[in-house]
Amino acid sequence: MRAVEIIRKKRDGEELSAEEIAFVVREYSADRIPDYQVAALLMAVFQRGMSESETALLTEAMRASGDVVDLGALDGRKVDKHSTGGVGDKTSLVLGPAVAACGVTVPMISGRGLGHTGGTLDKLESIPGFDVRLDLDRFKRQLASARLAFIGQTRSLVPADRKLYALRDVTATVESRPLIVASIMSKKLAEGIDALVLDVKTGSGAFMKRLEDSESLARAMVSIGRACGKEVVALITDMNQPLGEYAGNAHEVLECLEVMKGRGPDDLRALTEELCAWCLLLGEAAGTLEEARDLYRRSIESGAALAKFEEIIRLQGGDPAVIEDYGRLPQARHRREVASPGDGFLQSMDTEAVGLALCVLGAGRETVESVIDPAVGMRFHKRIGDSVRRGEPLATLYYNDEGRAQEAARRLVAACRMGEERAEPPVLIRRLIRG
Ligand code: URA
Repeated sequence: MRAVEIIRKKRDGEELSAEEIAFVVREYSADRIPDYQVAALLMAVFQRGMSESETALLTEAMRASGDVVDLGALDGRKVDKHSTGGVGDKTSLVLGPAVAACGVTVPMISGRGLGHTGGTLDKLESIPGFDVRLDLDRFKRQLASARLAFIGQTRSLVPADRKLYALRDVTATVESRPLIVASIMSKKLAEGIDALVLDVKTGSGAFMKRLEDSESLARAMVSIGRACGKEVVALITDMNQPLGEYAGNAHEVLECLEVMKGRGPDDLRALTEELCAWCLLLGEAAGTLEEARDLYRRSIESGAALAKFEEIIRLQGGDPAVIEDYGRLPQARHRREVASPGDGFLQSMDTEAVGLALCVLGAGRETVESVIDPAVGMRFHKRIGDSVRRGEPLATLYYNDEGRAQEAARRLVAACRMGEERAEPPVLIRRLIRG
């Protein structure tokens, strides 16, 4: 089989066979097809799409590119949550510890920043020493002792997604339904979970901007998960503005620590609570959603979630002193406020443009080799529906490079649309999809 013929076939809009999909995934994972050919194929998939059956075959080929974690020896249900990605979207850092503290095992294989969105692994790595590169044995041992481990794709766990994810990030091929479905579900099917909660974002900062596209993405993932014997629910949630007040890797860790201390912004707290409640319900730690919400709240109030996070930071080599001393997180050298150019109400935000402004500051990658800056970020002072006066700060930038900060500030102002009428704040949790 020749890669160039497979690329040509997809370029011309034809359906790929199981053998062709398996060939590309296997050979690319083993470094026997170069990046440039796979980049061309990704772009052809992006333009031409994939049928449901091609998407299922791609998911299975990617899952089969590595091991599947066998957690059968651990008692209780194993549940995970995965988001399709957004700006300031940091719920995993609270959810993992809270759900594990309530007795449900969470084997979490996460990703790095993708396109304009942030990634759990990059956020965790902003904690000095935190190691997300655990091997399979250590992953399983930590799950047995602590019920939670955070890792990324490795050479033995979904290696195909490890390479494809990094390549999509820098070739403008992220926003493709089959590629998102296969990337997320191949990781989740390799984890050895019983159930999965999906946070499918919708709006200007999501990969799927329209509600109907987010729903169709959710349904595709729920149906693949169910076909593989997993219980799956998807919450469609709003991404028309950043989640929480902060975006940027170290800043998001700080904000999650605040939530685990019972503080933090309302939207982040509300969404985390709902996602946790679903994990606890599917994990059979509670009999109803209301009981599950209560259980989550108690894990925060009692300090159990925070204590679990501290345990995980220690187990994964990080500095637990960051919990009490935020100054130990990476700090940007400069900060500046971005002033509103006019009066009115904040009507909408192009949240993807805000995410790209964060990448300009250094929070995201431009090439596979790029090194991100964990210290840079933004604090948002205005939300949709708020009134804003000329000269009032829209956001604070934390930065290390003046030129980048100027460009990010310009993009941020352009992303905010003001008007005379007060806009209704978007509803945070839009729909539930259960197959
Ligand atoms: N998260 C993933 O793991 N993959 C995607 O493609 C999007 C979000």
